[in-house]
Amino acid sequence: MLSPHYLPEQLPFREGYITEIDRLLAPAQENKKPRNLFIYGKTGTGKTSVAKKILEHWERDAIYVQYINCRIYNSRYRILQKLLKKFVPELEKTGFGLPFLYEKLMEILQENKQMIVVLDEIDMIKDLDELVYTLTRVNDEVTKGGVTLMGISNKLSFKDALDPRSKSSLYETELVFPPYTSEQLQKILSQRAEEGFAEDTIETSAINLVAAITAQESGDARYALKLLVKAGEIAEQQGKKKITDAEVETARSRVELDLVEETIATLPENHQIVLYAIAQRTAQGSRYARLEGLENNMLLSGEVYEAYERICSQLKKRPRSIRWYHEYLHDLEMLGLVITTPSGKGLRGHTTLIRLGYEDAKGIGQMIGKQLGLEG
Ligand code: ADP
Ligand code: MG
Repeated sequence: MLSPHYLPEQLPFREGYITEIDRLLAPAQENKKPRNLFIYGKTGTGKTSVAKKILEHWERDAIYVQYINCRIYNSRYRILQKLLKKFVPELEKTGFGLPFLYEKLMEILQENKQMIVVLDEIDMIKDLDELVYTLTRVNDEVTKGGVTLMGISNKLSFKDALDPRSKSSLYETELVFPPYTSEQLQKILSQRAEEGFAEDTIETSAINLVAAITAQESGDARYALKLLVKAGEIAEQQGKKKITDAEVETARSRVELDLVEETIATLPENHQIVLYAIAQRTAQGSRYARLEGLENNMLLSGEVYEAYERICSQLKKRPRSIRWYHEYLHDLEMLGLVITTPSGKGLRGHTTLIRLGYEDAKGIGQMIGKQLGLEG
């Protein structure tokens, strides 16, 4: 019940949206095509859960609903194939050309079918413009039935990259889910804790702390649940009967490290080495920071590059040039792992100042060290 895949009975603070979406889809009941719908919201704002709830409501004979995770089904072809599988069993075995899929879809709709298709993480579709174009054409050509899309995304800028025609089609109606506030998270978490934990095993103040930490960082309910579960595990390991603020604090730094670990594991080696250099230098304290009157935990680009070269030689690797080093820094910054700022004038000419994006420099250093085979 605490797992991110569990769909709770009630979704507090989203019930209003659920009612609204049901209302927007209502024409399907009278066999009219509803308008397409788009849901935007940051990670953990309940988009996927709401979509799944809606599909539960709409699973009935005359209406065919399909949830599609576009991370997996990421092209027009694969999505059409997935949509038709239930109706065309042969699709399992052999590949068919696009025209065949197109014809089949028309035939099915023509039997008076309304299809409601959720495209979750729609920004992952490589040829989305083509998919939207195909479905628009299908809708134009059929005299009965129709396909309605419910697109979901947490990428704000992806909208701009769309072809104007598919944009206006996809965004016929747009809903935005705001991040949860601290008070809302308290309610969501209490409800989940009640379902998922034994009675009287978590202090109210601990739930409130999870809510406050999460609201301050992101308002991401998934993160809040992760924190809650981790705090529970820590209490259990330590033989405690109750989760208190202390377990939440410990959980916080562990969850942060877990998330960083996932990101780091997928980095190419040179990026890992640069990040390792930054973590190491941060943990040891910049050699120049005090000298130059820098803020806490700031490093100079040059000292990080020196550390990078040193680690490369430890690994018997040839260091890449400064130009490449700046590329790596840029990539690390894009991932939120580091923060860089130009130094401005006066300070050793122009240089870049670097700061690790996380508190626990030592923990992060050890983690990369292990991956690189430098620390046991
Ligand atoms: P998104 O798709 O926006 O990233 P999800 O729907 O996957 O978010 O929600 C993330 C997690 O938070 C899930 O475990 C979900 O059950 C929980 N959650 C999100 N919103 C609510 C809510 N309003 N009430 C209860 N649980 C919620
Ligand atoms: Mg989601």
